[in-house]
Amino acid sequence: MKDYIVKDPWKIIEDTFKQEYHKVTESLCSIGNGMIGHRGNFEEYYSGETLQGNYIAGIYYPDKTRVGWWKNGYPEYFAKVLNSANWIGIDVWFGDIRLDLNHAEILSYKRELDMQSGILSRQVHLAIHHIECKISTERFCSYVDKEIGWSKYSIESVNYSGPITLESFVDFNVRNQDANYDENFWDFHCQHIDVEWGHVFCKTKKTDFKVCAGFKSKVEIDDQISADKCCSSSERKVGHIYSIDINGGQLVTLTKCAAIISEFHHGDVRLTDLCREKLDQATQEGYPNAKEKHKKAWLDKWIQSDIKIEGDISAQQGIRFNIFHLNQTYTGTDSRLNIGPKGFTGEKYGGSTYWDTEAYCLPFYLSTATSSVAKNLLIYRYNHLQKAIENAAKLGFSDGAALYPMVTINGEECHNEWEITFEEIHRNGAIAYAIYDYVNHTGDMSYLHDYGLDVLVAICRFWKQRVNWSNHKEQYVILGVTGPNEYENNVNNNWYTNYIASWCLRYTMDCLSNLKGNAEDVYDELIGKLKISPDELEKWTHIIANMYYPYDENEQIYLQQEGFLDKEIIPVTEIPKAENPINQHWSWDRILRSCFIKQADVLQGFYFFEDDFTDEELSRHFDFYEPITVHESSLSPCVHSILACRLGNIDKAYEMYLRTARLDVDDYNNDTEDGLHITSMAGTWMTITKGFAGMRVKEGLVTFDPTCPENWSGYSFSIQHAGQLISITIKSELIILKNHDENAVRIKLKEDIFELNGLESKTIVLTR
Ligand code: BGC
Repeated sequence: MKDYIVKDPWKIIEDTFKQEYHKVTESLCSIGNGMIGHRGNFEEYYSGETLQGNYIAGIYYPDKTRVGWWKNGYPEYFAKVLNSANWIGIDVWFGDIRLDLNHAEILSYKRELDMQSGILSRQVHLAIHHIECKISTERFCSYVDKEIGWSKYSIESVNYSGPITLESFVDFNVRNQDANYDENFWDFHCQHIDVEWGHVFCKTKKTDFKVCAGFKSKVEIDDQISADKCCSSSERKVGHIYSIDINGGQLVTLTKCAAIISEFHHGDVRLTDLCREKLDQATQEGYPNAKEKHKKAWLDKWIQSDIKIEGDISAQQGIRFNIFHLNQTYTGTDSRLNIGPKGFTGEKYGGSTYWDTEAYCLPFYLSTATSSVAKNLLIYRYNHLQKAIENAAKLGFSDGAALYPMVTINGEECHNEWEITFEEIHRNGAIAYAIYDYVNHTGDMSYLHDYGLDVLVAICRFWKQRVNWSNHKEQYVILGVTGPNEYENNVNNNWYTNYIASWCLRYTMDCLSNLKGNAEDVYDELIGKLKISPDELEKWTHIIANMYYPYDENEQIYLQQEGFLDKEIIPVTEIPKAENPINQHWSWDRILRSCFIKQADVLQGFYFFEDDFTDEELSRHFDFYEPITVHESSLSPCVHSILACRLGNIDKAYEMYLRTARLDVDDYNNDTEDGLHITSMAGTWMTITKGFAGMRVKEGLVTFDPTCPENWSGYSFSIQHAGQLISITIKSELIILKNHDENAVRIKLKEDIFELNGLESKTIVLTR
C-alpha cells in the first residue's frame, strides 16, 4: 500500500516527484473521453521507468495466441487494445542539454489531475546542469469533441540565457509492451509535415484499422507569437522545431492541438483531410474556448454522477476518482465499444470485455446516464450473438446454443486457459442478468422482444445442453466448471453456476409468458422466428424443477461446490501476513486445495438474487464464506460490502468499502502501475448507492433504505430514474430527497411509499 497522493476532494495530487512510483502516478493521472485516452506520461523525454500509453476506443489487434500447451477450442488470438500514436510529445533542449526529469534536480514539483474539469497539469521547478527553469503544463482530451486533445507547455527560464529548442511532435513508433511475439502491430501508410500542420497515418496489421494522428502547434514568447519554426520528419514521426534565444526571466509557451481520426469512427473517408479539417476548426476556436467547453461538459457530467461525502476527505477523493475514470472510459455513444478492465490506462487484460461489464458496470451507467448508454452495452452483446453461437458450436454445442466469450472485443473468444475459457461458463448468466437489470430499471419491455429474448433463448439452449441428468442423484448437474472463485477449477456443481443457469431458464420463461399475455401476436412471431417448440419449454421447466444444489444440512448452507466441506476450513486471518496475497506467494496447487476464496461466489448469487433468500439465510452464508474470502479480485469486496449493509453490519461494510474505494489511489495490490482497475470502480459506486443507501429499483419503483457510516457526517448522490434526476442526501439524523425534474416520481423510503412532485424536495427526520 502507498500513501503519497495528497488528500483532496477533487484532485489527485503528487506534490513531490516520486520517481519510484512514476508508473503508478502515470496510471492514476490517465485522462480520456470515451474515444481517446492516454496515461499521465510526461510530455518531454524521460529516461526513467515509464509506460508510454495512448489508446483509441475500438482499435484492436488480434495478437497470435501464446500458450504452453495447445488445447482444441483455444482461440487463435487475443484481441489487444493498441498503444497508438503519441501526440503529447514535446522535447526540450537547452543548447545541447536535453531536458530529462530523470537527471534533473527537482526543486519543487506538483502533478495534479483535476477530476472536476478533466484537466491534467504539472508544475516543476528544476535545475539541470546549473540551468534553472520552471515548467508548467496542462492538457486534456476534449469531452466535447472526442477526437481532439489539447496541450499547453510553458517554460520559464530562471537563470538561463541562450538557445532553447522545443520539438512538438506526433510519433507513431509505438509498441504494446504486452505483445506476445514482440511484433509491431502498426503498418506505416503515409506522413506529412509543413509549417501549418503534420500527421502520421498508420494502419493496424491484420485488422486494417486506419488511424491518422495530426497536430498543429504554436509558440509564444512572453505573449508574442514566434514565427521561427522548422519541420522535422523521420520514420513515423513528424514535428515542429522551435529554436529560440531566451533570456533569464522569459516565458516560452507551446500550445498544441492534436486530432486522432480513425476509420473505425468515420468509415471510408479521406482521413487526412478530415484530420486537417478538425485541426483547423479546433485551432480557430482556440485553446481557451475549447478548455471552457470541456470544463463545462465535465461539470454537467458531475451533476448526474457525483457522490458527495461529508467528513471523510479520503473517502471523497476515492469515490470521485472512481466515478471520474468510469466516465472517461465509457460514454455510451457507440454500441461497438465496451468497458475494458483497464480502460485507457494500460495494456494488461488486452482492454477487452469481461463479464465485469454486465455484473458490475451496468448499474452505474443505468443510474447515472440516459438509458441509451446502458442499452448500448446490451446491444453490444446482442450484436455478438452469432459469434457466441459459433463459439458454443466450436465446443460441440448445437441448435443455436450460445456461449458468450470470457474475454472479447469483437464477439470472438480471446481467453486461453482451459479452466476459464471452457469452464467459467457462469458468464453467460451475467449477460442474461444484465437484460433483467436493464428492463427492471427502465421498464423498456420492447427491448425484450426486439433484442433481449434472442439472447436469452440462445443462452437457455446452452444451459439445456450443458446440464446432464444424474441417475445417481436423480437431478440435473453441471460438471467441470469454474465458478466466479477462480481459485477452484474443474469442480462439479458450483452452486452459483447451477443457480444462475436455472434462473436464466426461469427468467426467460417468465418473459415469454408475459409476452404471450400482453402481445400474443408478437409472441407468436417470436416463437416462430426462434423456433421454440413446446417440448423445448417443457425441458426447461423440468431442469428448473430438478436442478441439484449442493447443500450441507449441518451448517445449513449451500456449498460453493460439491465436496467443499472436505477442505480444511480456516479463516483468512490465519494466513501469515507475509504470505498475502496468496496468489503471489503460494503454488497454484496449494491455492486450489485450500479453502480460500478469491472473490464472491456463493455470495455473488445472494447479491444478484437477494429476494430469493431470507436475511437469516444470508447471515448464515455470509458468516461462513466471508471469513474464508481473500478478496484477491478487485471485484469482490463491493459485493460483500453490499451484503454486509443488508445485514446491518456497517463496520464490515465500511471495511470492505475501504478496500475498493482507494484500491488504485493507494495501490493496495501493488499493480496500479499496469493500469487502473476500471470495472471494480463501478463496484465502489454500488457499495455506496446499493450498500449504504440501500437503493434498489423494483418494477419501476426506486427504493432507499439508507444508513450512514460513522466516520461520515453525511453523503449525497443523484440518480437518473425514469428519465428524471433525483438526488438523495443522507445524514445520521435526516434524509433529504429532491426531484430535479418537472414530473412527479414515486419513491419508497424504508417502508413508506410516497410521491415526490416535480422540483419538490422532502426532508425526513429520522427518530432514533
Ligand atoms: C477475476 C474475474 C474478472 C477478471 C477481469 C479476474 O481476476 O477473477 O472475475 O472477470 O479478473 O476483471
